[in-house]
Amino acid sequence: MASPGKSAAADFGLYRPSEEHDMLRDSVRALSEAKIAPFAAEVDEEGRFPQEARDALEANDLHAVHVPEAYGGAGADALATVIVIEEVARVCASSSLIPAVNKLGSLPVVLSGSEELKKRYLTPLADGRAMFSYCLSEPDAGSDAGGMKTKAVRDGDHYVLNGVKRWITNAGVSDYYTVMAVTDPEKRTKGISAFVVEKDDEGVSFGAPEKKLGIKGSPTREVYLDNVRIPADRMLGEEGSGFATAMQTLDHTRITIAAQALGIAQGALDYAKGYVAERKQFGKPIGDFQGVQFMLADMAMKLEAARQLTYAAAARSERVTLGGDGEDLTFFGAAAKCYASDAAMEITTDAVQLLGGYGYTRDYPVERMMRDAKITQIYEGTNQVQRIVMARNLP
Ligand SMILES: Cc1cc2nc3c(=O)[nH]c(=O)nc-3n(C[C@H](O)[C@H](O)[C@H](O)COP(=O)(O)OP(=O)(O)OC[C@H]3O[C@@H](n4cnc5c(N)ncnc54)[C@H](O)[C@@H]3O)c2cc1C
Repeated sequence: MASPGKSAAADFGLYRPSEEHDMLRDSVRALSEAKIAPFAAEVDEEGRFPQEARDALEANDLHAVHVPEAYGGAGADALATVIVIEEVARVCASSSLIPAVNKLGSLPVVLSGSEELKKRYLTPLADGRAMFSYCLSEPDAGSDAGGMKTKAVRDGDHYVLNGVKRWITNAGVSDYYTVMAVTDPEKRTKGISAFVVEKDDEGVSFGAPEKKLGIKGSPTREVYLDNVRIPADRMLGEEGSGFATAMQTLDHTRITIAAQALGIAQGALDYAKGYVAERKQFGKPIGDFQGVQFMLADMAMKLEAARQLTYAAAARSERVTLGGDGEDLTFFGAAAKCYASDAAMEITTDAVQLLGGYGYTRDYPVERMMRDAKITQIYEGTNQVQRIVMARNLP
């Protein structure tokens, strides 16, 4: 596998991938087609975790490419991470949540964790011994995440956590959980702190997997925290900085959801393109009809616009990571996620249309892609919330 390295300029030229990025794409595509695609339909049908994908990604060091080299990771830049997620999502959206949520869960550690916590938690993630999840949402705190109720109360050298986190991707499979909890209820979002909780900590348990429309191979469960007593040094950053860390994390990781949307849409477009060349009606391939050609043209146009916006956002994410100016990252992260996910929903719906009745059945992959695309408009903040974020951060 090509090693996804740091881009020197961090602006990716005119947001064009470098030769190194292109090599990475080729190798992830080959791996995904050989080792992940063959199980995608089965994983969806059975609603089971894609262990084959985890094994293949870990064996090729592609499961958490964002982890800095200092902690044993590949130290990939934001665009390389996008490319990995895009290519895995092109064949299996559920599997793409392995690299995506490993980044989401561990980025708070990268951004705000002490050196000691970085060594302790990023190293096992990088070498494939552990996966990470991110626990912000609760049953009554979704779009208004600041309204969370989970509490962390200081007790000597420890904090004691109590509460319920809902909709947690890869819960039960992940070993580590970044948990946002209220340490000072008077201060609302400034009274929220972030902690690393381990799966084996006493008092941690999980709900039954949610029965979902799509991404059925990615387990989504509640995480219950029942008097979970953890050392105080598992706090990320200062007390009260957890909500800011959680939001900073989303600025970077919404770009990975955009990447997932791009991949799903590309998979649907590629399939539809091949289908219309084969399927004959009225004595010729349906791809010869201009009505069909115009649909494909629109799909490709929307996808490319979404890709350029996503890569522009990734360039900003990388600039911020390297300590540069990141004034417009919040806008770009929200815009990329919102635009790419809306485009993916339209493109996958059109792909089903282009397959006619066959597209509506599970004998073909486009209905799965359409169901999988829907979640990209909802998580890491719904697209209404992205529009609120954009409106507050107009460039
Ligand atoms: C499969 C799945 C995986 C997930 N993974 C994770 C995870 O790993 N970690 C995690 O912390 N969370 C996760 N989530 C949670 C996800 O981020 C939330 O579901 C999402 O933020 C929306 O919150 P909600 O479901 O409570 O909807 P609500 O906030 O109740 O929203 C309902 C509707 O109201 C709209 N709305 C709400 N407020 C406004 C407003 N001010 N203006 C306009 N419209 C508004 C919303 O856009 C939406 O259409 C996941 C969710 C799902 C379904």
